[in-house]
Amino acid sequence: MNTITMRPPVAAAKADRSYWLRSIEADAVTQPLQGAADCDVAIVGGGYAGLWTALRIKEQSPETRVTVLEADFCGSGASGRNGGQVHSWFAEIDMLRALVGEDDALMLCRATADAIEELNGLQTSGAVDMGLRLDGWLWTASSTAQEGAWAAARDLCLALGEERFRPLQRADILRRTGSDVSYVGIVEERAGTVQPAKLAIGLRRLALERGIVIHERSPVVEITPGPRPRLRTAGGVLAAGKVVLATNAWLSAIPELHPYLYVVSSQVVATAPAPDILERIGWTDGASICDAQHHVLYYQRTPEGTVIFGRGTGGIAYDDRIDGRFNRGGDGGADNIRELHRVYPQLKDVPVLCDWTGPIDCTAQHLPVFGHLKDHANIFYAMGFNGTGIAQTPVAGRIVASLVLGRDDAWSRCGLVGIGKRTRLPPEPLRYFGARVVRRAIRRKNDLEILNRRPDAVTRFLAGLAP
Ligand SMILES: Cc1cc2nc3c(=O)[nH]c(=O)nc-3n(C[C@H](O)[C@H](O)[C@H](O)COP(=O)(O)OP(=O)(O)OC[C@H]3O[C@@H](n4cnc5c(N)ncnc54)[C@H](O)[C@@H]3O)c2cc1C
Repeated sequence: MNTITMRPPVAAAKADRSYWLRSIEADAVTQPLQGAADCDVAIVGGGYAGLWTALRIKEQSPETRVTVLEADFCGSGASGRNGGQVHSWFAEIDMLRALVGEDDALMLCRATADAIEELNGLQTSGAVDMGLRLDGWLWTASSTAQEGAWAAARDLCLALGEERFRPLQRADILRRTGSDVSYVGIVEERAGTVQPAKLAIGLRRLALERGIVIHERSPVVEITPGPRPRLRTAGGVLAAGKVVLATNAWLSAIPELHPYLYVVSSQVVATAPAPDILERIGWTDGASICDAQHHVLYYQRTPEGTVIFGRGTGGIAYDDRIDGRFNRGGDGGADNIRELHRVYPQLKDVPVLCDWTGPIDCTAQHLPVFGHLKDHANIFYAMGFNGTGIAQTPVAGRIVASLVLGRDDAWSRCGLVGIGKRTRLPPEPLRYFGARVVRRAIRRKNDLEILNRRPDAVTRFLAGLAP
């Protein structure tokens, strides 16, 4: 039986960790796997996807013995590094409908809206302190090329009777964000921001309370498939009835999945607290804001007045080998800082204290895919969150739990299950070198469009080749 070789992450040095992880001194609290162990379901990866899957399995089948193996510590991946923007899938309803049909698209969108309410419930009950603030998600344009990026999703929502979005004019955006660089857009009001690392750490606590076994600092290096797959780490071997691979971008190491997944980096910076300036310009609440560039800007202010400003970099690696550049870029966040000062010139003198990056697991359709490996019906995977996971992974957890538990229900039958109709990406080295050319064109296009200048035809053509 062929073994499956995993490619565990390069752990980030403490100084390269995200502002979110550093501000709560997040770290491992559970013991590494040692020796031989046994469980019903082994989950590889202790981010939101792995933890929600573990929680959903326990909700439906409390007697199932679930063990999570995490390479570093829970939340050390994308879940503890992201922009903290919480919004539903209604923003992607047009793409969802194209892939899974109208009924499933509506079900999945509504499920993410419910997930936001579930997060709110977890916070208000005191179960998970995640700093959730439902002050809205603003999807905006800061140049003419970006105007109306939301039209397809908004119009479809309206046609389906879902009034999720309200229009925003320049004055509304200025009043809510203290900047009018973005001057038109829409808002999803039951959405907002979280402290993402607190959410990950809170889910870990919830999982432990519910009897889920977690071993941190336990990178899985190899899986031997079979009726009872065996997962090998440096210190031990875990035998399981079923396995869930919830390792996000690191799933690109699995040859069967690699053709459907590409990994890009996104970079975030955090400023020193500047509550007085933010009060003065009127940016006071916990809204999340993004614009509609290809390398999207996403930002929020924390309750303490730190500005978190993120941007897709489009950074890639040959064969999707995720190295240390996916922990921290090495340029001190220069690109983000330039954009931060364009949107908020008032913050020019506020120091940036922290910069970091994280890998984004992308699919050609920009939507996740769930299933099991072709020759191994007991090894499942969840991948392709495409930079939108906070309200989506609780739903992913339901889908994967149904698959693992063998349920025949709306989750296991939904159109995100199965890789068959997904687009295969080109093999290496074409993929890497092609992506470099396309990335350069996208950046050129972005830079010109921000200035309301039209890129030349070659740039437009090459940028248009992006999946
Ligand atoms: C910079 C950035 C900004 C983002 N901004 C937002 C945002 O604002 N809003 C939003 O909704 N989403 C955002 N996202 C996306 C969101 O963070 C992800 O979709 C979500 O965290 C995915 O969760 P996950 O569990 O799949 O991945 P992860 O949190 O990455 O978890 C995977 C885990 O698997 C572990 N692992 C990998 N290989 C192994 C192995 N061999 N053995 C054991 N463990 C292993 C890793 O250590 C990691 O902890 C952003 C992502 C990034 C990177």
